[in-house]
Amino acid sequence: MTATLKEQVVQALSTVEDPDLKQDLVTLGMIQELQVTQGRVRFVLALTTPVCPLQEVLKKACTAAIHTHVRADLAVEIQVTAEVTSTRTDEPILPHVKNIIAIASGKGGVGKSTVATNLAVSLAHHGVAVGLLDADIFGPSIPTMFGCADERPKVIQQGDQKYILPLQKYGVKLVSIGFLTPADSAMVWRGPMASSALRQFLRDVDWGKLDYLLIDLPPGTSDIHLTLVQAVPVTGAVIVTTPQKVALADASRGIAMFQKEQIKVPVLGIIENMAYFSPPNLPEQRYYLFGQEGGKTLAKHYGIPFLGQIPIIERIRSGGDEGEPAVLEQEATAQLIYQLATSLAQQVAIRNAKQVPTHRVMITR
Ligand code: ADP
Repeated sequence: MTATLKEQVVQALSTVEDPDLKQDLVTLGMIQELQVTQGRVRFVLALTTPVCPLQEVLKKACTAAIHTHVRADLAVEIQVTAEVTSTRTDEPILPHVKNIIAIASGKGGVGKSTVATNLAVSLAHHGVAVGLLDADIFGPSIPTMFGCADERPKVIQQGDQKYILPLQKYGVKLVSIGFLTPADSAMVWRGPMASSALRQFLRDVDWGKLDYLLIDLPPGTSDIHLTLVQAVPVTGAVIVTTPQKVALADASRGIAMFQKEQIKVPVLGIIENMAYFSPPNLPEQRYYLFGQEGGKTLAKHYGIPFLGQIPIIERIRSGGDEGEPAVLEQEATAQLIYQLATSLAQQVAIRNAKQVPTHRVMITR
């Protein structure tokens, strides 16, 4: 029996592979609402993230496959939609958050909060629903980096339950442990207080529907890390490091913690910050002030994706201090951060397709 035209189109499309997920688009369920008439093929290409760098490549590959394997004269109309994937189902805490991503570093001062801020703003700018929870008790810098250090989130009452409403800035929903402490008071957090504040931010904040909730963790491996992995299943972790030796040693410890048998949070990738400095008048020149490609080498050593590098840029520093993230305006920097955000979104999609859901850690110490 000869195949119908529609069957031939499905067969043709099943020769197109998603380069990240290494499976064909039909098996992945990415071809939807297929309509085939005599002269025209129409379908929806359902991508796994709105910040998909492969959109044009995949569209071209689908059209070429239909023209090669079915008929060259068929008109092909492809509508692209993007639905961020998730492995979280039926979760009691943060049920409407698709992916929880820990942003961690070994050493302090490597730019973890700066990277988290710029990534969140970049993702939001490209149409993704994103929240940022600042859990860095030792230096909650997110309120300053977003220029809202003097604001406080509102609290609403729903039935007999009170919820905190996150602030919204640059399209990102924000809650910070810094909102609980006056900026000029040197508040010393005791571990249990900080842990209970984090639990409250996960449980009692009305985050709404989010594609990604980024969690800016304190440096190193602390009680806060353990509280997080015990409270919610963390989709994955991103490690931010500078290329220098002491930062890398600490970053390794961070990776080892997430990879521990009892914790098992996939490390989605490494970002190398302050990778080099190029004087504005000599853009081709690169000075490797903190050593060269240490983050890249670390990623290779652990077999972890390398998400990319960020150079030392004065505007990134001033943007952090003035509450106007560099990604908002500087074309080259915005492009660079967008590429990092894209790589992160890609790794989340790959992780969700290939790895089992993370479980909350049940440990008694
Ligand atoms: P962490 O969260 O790891 O402690 P921060 O994000 O607070 O680090 O960054 C530490 C300092 O370095 C801040 O003053 C920040 O503005 C600056 N900084 C971070 N990344 C860069 C960069 N790529 N270029 C210039 N300055 C940076």
